[in-house]
Amino acid sequence: MRAAVLHGPGDVRLEERPAPRILEPGDAIVRIPAATVCGSDLWSYRGINPVPEPVPFGHEYCGIVEETGSEVRSVRPGQFVIGSFFASDNTCPHCRAGFQSSCQHRVLMGGCQAEAVRVPMADGTLVVTPGVPAGDLVPSLLALSDVMGTGWFAAECAGVRPGMTVAVVGDGAVGLCGVLAAAQRGAGRIIAMSRHPERRKLALEFGATDIVAARGADGVAQVAEMTGGIGADAVLECVGTSESMLQALRSTRPGGFVGYVGVPHGVSLPAEELFFSHVGLRGGPAPVRRFLPELIDLVWDRRIDPGKVFDMTLPLDQVAEGYRAMDERRAVKVLLRP
Ligand SMILES: [Zn+2]
Repeated sequence: MRAAVLHGPGDVRLEERPAPRILEPGDAIVRIPAATVCGSDLWSYRGINPVPEPVPFGHEYCGIVEETGSEVRSVRPGQFVIGSFFASDNTCPHCRAGFQSSCQHRVLMGGCQAEAVRVPMADGTLVVTPGVPAGDLVPSLLALSDVMGTGWFAAECAGVRPGMTVAVVGDGAVGLCGVLAAAQRGAGRIIAMSRHPERRKLALEFGATDIVAARGADGVAQVAEMTGGIGADAVLECVGTSESMLQALRSTRPGGFVGYVGVPHGVSLPAEELFFSHVGLRGGPAPVRRFLPELIDLVWDRRIDPGKVFDMTLPLDQVAEGYRAMDERRAVKVLLRP
């Protein structure tokens, strides 16, 4: 089987690896029709997160169940399934509370930029789609595995409700999905913060009503001006840098919430400013598993099309070019066809 292996900064290779096999009775093997690179993979690709040894990469997946372990009950070979980047049992107290990404037995998925993958705790992790999807639905279903579920969680954490003014910091795939999520939740006004023409176009297609190109203090000032000096009711932070977190915090009205889903890197927040801002912060790794049934229905009924974030398609052989294109921001998100 062919799989992408990250060897070190800037060094991704497609290699021949042993095909995955059932190791635990709760496992399933899923054959992958389309894989992708996550913005968070770039932290390792850029050398910011160290890679001590070569590691099979990728954590977003969907596909056809090929084989199941002896204890698997809820999925069977031939079904099309989607799972989250954290495998979860879906039975522990944290799962039952809806926070499957904090499952007591969670397993971070890896090795999904490949022809097939082993999924632990298949009964808890995988959600079956209503049938085998038409080919054109696959990118949108794959997007649910991470970016759309994460954008959805950002909107939930920010408390987006009908009629609200929402600002979205970050125009990567998650930020764009955050725009789509805010629109689905009935936001009245959605301010997408983006300076990239193609990404702005997609943000508008996903439901943004306003675009702010400025960043930092200028971006904050523009949101203030657009909201009569009040600030946005809800802000989705989809980057994970100090600059983006502060921009989100300072763009939110007193009493509002920031939903932060960009994995923080080197962020420290001024506690005193946070205290006096009256802004709440909620976020973390999205419990995508909780949202999958609802999001699958929305995609299946063609009411949302998050697969539009894939603006480049490459054969899996060209995975290295896929990483380069995303690293250089030539692509929002790359679809890799095994
Ligand atoms: Zn659990």
